Amino acid sequence: MTTSTFKAVFTLDTESHTYRPTAHNLSSDQAVEQFNSESKARTTDQGERHRNHDVRRCRACKKTADELTRQHVTASTDSEQSEAQSASSENEGD
Ligand SMILES: [Zn+2]
Repeated sequence: MTTSTFKAVFTLDTESHTYRPTAHNLSSDQAVEQFNSESKARTTDQGERHRNHDVRRCRACKKTADELTRQHVTASTDSEQSEAQSASSENEGD
């Protein structure tokens, strides 16, 4: 029963519209605890523990970040989102 799945977390940079590796080698508990409230964060499963200590230099994470960025670009060109700053009606319950 040793399902050691590691999680990597990526955060969307709203200026450049790219995902950046934020953390890796987290347990799912850690990922939820630290990034659950972060709406721009995306959590992915890692196949195995990443050896590079620095997440920003981690090649596996960079690759996943590129992938997420590509998905994000594809999704956002489909339907353009206008940011309504005055009305904060983001109350979508779970
Ligand atoms: Zn990594």
